[in-house]
Amino acid sequence: MSQILIIYTGGTIGMMSDPVTKVLKPINFEQIMDNVPELEKLNCRIKVHSFDEIIDSSNMNPAIWSDLAGLIESNYHDNDGFVILHGSDTMAYTASALSFMLENLGKPVIFTGSQLPISAIRTDAKENLMTAIEIAKAKKNDRARVPEVCIYFDYKLFRGNRAFKYNSSKFEAFRSPNYPILAESGVHLKFSVNDIRHPQDGENLIIHNNLISDVGVLKLYPGIGTKVVEAILNADVRGVVMETFGAGNTTTDAWFISLLEKAIKDGKVIVDISQCKVGTVELGRYETSKQLKDMGVANGYDMTFESAVTKMMYLLGKFDDPALVKHYMETDLRGEITVS
Ligand code: ASP
Repeated sequence: MSQILIIYTGGTIGMMSDPVTKVLKPINFEQIMDNVPELEKLNCRIKVHSFDEIIDSSNMNPAIWSDLAGLIESNYHDNDGFVILHGSDTMAYTASALSFMLENLGKPVIFTGSQLPISAIRTDAKENLMTAIEIAKAKKNDRARVPEVCIYFDYKLFRGNRAFKYNSSKFEAFRSPNYPILAESGVHLKFSVNDIRHPQDGENLIIHNNLISDVGVLKLYPGIGTKVVEAILNADVRGVVMETFGAGNTTTDAWFISLLEKAIKDGKVIVDISQCKVGTVELGRYETSKQLKDMGVANGYDMTFESAVTKMMYLLGKFDDPALVKHYMETDLRGEITVS
C-alpha cells in the first residue's frame, strides 16, 4: 500500500471564520481531517506533519522553504509522495523554489489548497485535497507518474515553476499559459505523459538549502526615472529580475542603458523577463533589446516572475561567479523555461 505524507503549512483550506470578528483564521489539522471522512476510503496510508506555526501564505519565507525541503528529504525514503497544503497567495513561489531546491526529484510533491475553507458548504478544498493525494500516489510500472513539484487546483495539475496565481476569487486560481497542464481530472484522471519530466535513472535526490533571498526587482513603466532605477540597481543585491515590455524590450534612453551597463560591470546579474504572461523574451529582436543582449543581460525567455525570483535566489546561493549565475539563469534546469 502506498504511503503519502501530507504537510500542512496553512492557508484558507484550513481556516475558519471567527464567530465574533468574522476574520478567517487557521485551524489545526485534526479539525481539517474531521471535515473529510472520505480520506479513510483512499487506498493508501496517510501520515501528517503539521507545522507548529500555521500561516497565511503571505507570511511564507525561504526559511520555511528550507524546512519543507528538509522534511521531504528526511521522509523521502518512507513515502511514495507528498501533498503540501499551502495558501494559494504564494503557492507558486514556494512550488518554484522547491523545484530548484529538490534536484533529481523522483517522487511527486503536490501543492494544493483552496479558495474556500474546507468547512464551507461550497468548498473547493475536498476535491483539491482528494485528487492531489490520488496524483501523489499514482504509479505506472512501479514508477511515480508525476515525479515533479506541482500545483493541483480546480481539476488541473500544473508544473509548479510554470504556474502563477491569476484569480483571487474564482476556484480556477492558477494558470500556466507557457506550458501545458500535466494532468486533468474529470471522470478519469488524464496524465499528459509527454509533458512530464522524470529524473535520470540512478540519480539520487539532492537538496539545495542555501538561498540568497535579497533579489532586486525592476518593473519598467513608461516614465520611470533615474531616481527609481538607480535606487534598485545600486541596492546591495547581486541579482535583479527586470520585468520588461513585450518580447523583452526597454527604453533605449542613454541614462537607462548606462545604469544597466554599470550594474553588470559591478558584478550584478540582471535577468530579463516579460510583463506579458504569455510568450517569450527575444533579446535582439527589436532595437530596444539589442543593447541589453550586447551588454550581457540574461535572457529569461518565458519564465514566470515567481520562477525567475526563486531561481535567482537558488543560483546566487550556489555560485559566486556572476557569469555562472547568468549562464544557469538562461539554462533550463527543472522545466521552468523553454529556451528558443
Ligand atoms: N491568504 C490565503 C493564503 O495564501 C489565501 C489562500 O489560501 O488561498 O494563505
